[in-house]
Amino acid sequence: MRLFDPHIHMTSRTTDDYEAMHAAGIHAVVEPSFWLGQPRTSVASFLDYFDSLLGWEPFRAAQHGIAHHCTLALNPKEANDPRCVPVLDELPRYLVKDHVVAVGEIGYDSMTPAEDTALATQLQLAAAHELPALVHTPHRDKLAGLRRTLDVVRESALPPDHVLVDHLNETTVKEAKDSGCWLGFSVYPDTKMDEERMVAILREYGTEQVLVNSAADWGRSDPLKTRRVADLMLAEGFDADDVDLVLWRNPVTFYGLSGRLDLAITTPEATHEGNSILRGAPKDPDGLPAGTPRERHDPAGAPATGA
Ligand SMILES: [Zn+2]
Repeated sequence: MRLFDPHIHMTSRTTDDYEAMHAAGIHAVVEPSFWLGQPRTSVASFLDYFDSLLGWEPFRAAQHGIAHHCTLALNPKEANDPRCVPVLDELPRYLVKDHVVAVGEIGYDSMTPAEDTALATQLQLAAAHELPALVHTPHRDKLAGLRRTLDVVRESALPPDHVLVDHLNETTVKEAKDSGCWLGFSVYPDTKMDEERMVAILREYGTEQVLVNSAADWGRSDPLKTRRVADLMLAEGFDADDVDLVLWRNPVTFYGLSGRLDLAITTPEATHEGNSILRGAPKDPDGLPAGTPRERHDPAGAPATGA
């Protein structure tokens, strides 16, 4: 089974998660830029984060045989903070980079005028860069949020088949599907969508243009949710090809619209700009810590000092 988590915030996850994900069959991820849980106070903070999503995180993923790409944007929540909005002027030079496969996540949080502007501006940026867009739909007042989102998408230069509307549920799936956009579902441990509800939606609305993700981040979430959905699909009568479509080929097709998706797992680099994921040097073949002076453990070879 090959699985693709098309929305997961690996920056917030551990190396153990990468290991467990690879063992579960998750061999590709897309990491959207998002809110860090506390406010950023300057544009520079975004740029360091974008650089990390383009450099350190793909390096870390590659150590575990996972292909990593990202989507970049000003997130909906911080679109309301005047200290953050000027990052929109920096985005064009980032959106041309190799590992960027969409603009995102953009959309509404509290549905303010500032969010309207940021959403429309970034849909335009996506169209100008020939990238698809990952659009977050609000967690409160979902149907009104979806309708307002779709209105802005329709007014934009980006065709609906280049837009993934995410965090859908039973109340929003029908209108989202009618719009022609791709349909994203985030499966969480105890709130919002769970595996059973996800499989029921797949049964009712089909598997075309549907993406399932864990949206795992620093909150209560589970980076193996894509695997759990795949297992339940099989248990509930979907076949292996259905699973492959939803959990591999659909995300490959959607992010492939960028022309930049590269899923070849090459031998990972040992270091990224001189840094590795190791803590201390590895043990040497004798089991001694690296750097241990030989003579102190090898009397035969010890220099004859003071004896
Ligand atoms: Zn997210």
